[in-house]
Amino acid sequence: MSSVNEMLIREIVSEVLGRLGAAGAVSSVPAAGGGGAQCGCGGKAGTGFRGKFGVFQDATEACNAAQEAFVQLQKSGIAGRRRIEEIVKELAETNAEEWGRVELEETKIGRLDHKIEKLKILKLVPGVDWLRPDARSGDHGIMLEEYTPFGVVGAVTPSTHSIPTMSGNIVNIVAAGNSVVFNPHPSAAKCAAMALRRYNEAIYREIGIENVACIVEQPTMDSFKAICSHDAIRLLLVTGGPGVVKAAMQTGKRAICAGPGNPPVLVDDTACMQRAARAIIQGAAYDNNLLCIGEKEVFALDTIAEKLMVEMEKNGGVRLSAGQLEALTKAAFTFKEGQGGGCAHASVNRDFIGKDPIVLARAAGVTIPAGTQLLFAETEADHAFVVEEQMMPFVPVVRVRSVEEGVARAVEAEHGYKHTSIIHSHDVEAMTAMGRALDTTLFIKNGPSMAGLGLGGEGYLSFSIATPTGEGVSNPRTFTRVRRCVMVDNLRIY
Ligand code: NAD
Repeated sequence: MSSVNEMLIREIVSEVLGRLGAAGAVSSVPAAGGGGAQCGCGGKAGTGFRGKFGVFQDATEACNAAQEAFVQLQKSGIAGRRRIEEIVKELAETNAEEWGRVELEETKIGRLDHKIEKLKILKLVPGVDWLRPDARSGDHGIMLEEYTPFGVVGAVTPSTHSIPTMSGNIVNIVAAGNSVVFNPHPSAAKCAAMALRRYNEAIYREIGIENVACIVEQPTMDSFKAICSHDAIRLLLVTGGPGVVKAAMQTGKRAICAGPGNPPVLVDDTACMQRAARAIIQGAAYDNNLLCIGEKEVFALDTIAEKLMVEMEKNGGVRLSAGQLEALTKAAFTFKEGQGGGCAHASVNRDFIGKDPIVLARAAGVTIPAGTQLLFAETEADHAFVVEEQMMPFVPVVRVRSVEEGVARAVEAEHGYKHTSIIHSHDVEAMTAMGRALDTTLFIKNGPSMAGLGLGGEGYLSFSIATPTGEGVSNPRTFTRVRRCVMVDNLRIY
């Protein structure tokens, strides 16, 4: 046998064995399965992906498995994506009480009733039907622009809404035809892995794809870096504070960043005080003010500030005295000396983030009635509670002399995050002035912040609002490439 033939035979044998190995790995996968040698992983896929249902120790393995699943998803067509969307929404709704409790037990932040609600409302997240192609026709034929997938998306989720963010992201990302790998927040990773495994088990049972959404079970900064640098990851979606936004933007990959906020509220003298007070309490108390869109500081015209605070007291708010505010501030923030003799910088004490009002009340030295939703107090505009994104059930109320001053203060407090702002007013000029000056992604008039995400207002839901990168409330289209298909001089029938 010549050496050429020998080499050829070796290559053929190796190829056949490779295919057998990969095919064996998917032999139990129902119809839409496939994968293996044709999975697009360049031979990295092996038998190790079976039985994991998306939960991996190793980030690289998770990315390889998601890449295999992406190819399987392509074969499953629109029907497969639609079924995945339905499965995620159905499971989130039916398991809302159990999963809400599990998430609260793990993270120890927020409120059970709202943890449950955040899962039940997942049905408001847009899916496959959102992707309608655009078409044009004319004398030169027809043109179709379609929204097509990138491949595998790398996603980071926050501690504040772990299962809801992950679930909404899966709906959006998979509806667009992609698969996804999550690096969740370490303090909310167990609940996310549990829910993700349940999704994949159900998806596998019905359409034979096992790892359409993957997760690193014990996430670290290294696993984040491994995901970001993996060849299969074509796009990033990060939801969190300034640190992760900066890290994502430095990866060199395209990043959709749902970043931090510090939403200001302006109340003028044309507003309905009852409605404004109710809305402020409802929004700021939601999940103990963990929402990035939640009301974080209030600027009220001097002439109506007292009336507003009285209404807040009637609607579940408890007003703190100056002394109580001081005690709470000392407990809720750590003040570090500014560099070069500058002003001391406040950082939020994590022991208070997302805690119940009773915990804050104890620190303030005040007794509060059962059912208290929110604490509040009058402060100056440069108070730590105004400047920092506190994420706890307390809002500062700052008196302003005019709408102009209120808008200017709101701009300062928002820090240019361009996230969310809220106004209570019946004066369209005040609304317009605030809308123009703040230029935020969400601008809510005369309602609680959640109305900006379809809860009591028009619109659709996502727990990832892409603020610094500008995509807005994320939806399936956010995770697509636009591709054009042209037929020249034909098929324009009339
Ligand atoms: P966080 O910034 O501490 O963590 C968010 C995620 O980023 C976690 O998974 C964390 O592990 C990861 N992370 C943090 N720093 C990182 C780094 N340098 N490199 C890689 N990964 C890193 O935030 P959190 O406390 O979990 O969530 C609250 C923050 O998220 C708030 O600032 C809130 O406004 C923001 N948020 C924004 C949205 C939005 O849609 N815009 C939604 C929810 C939360």
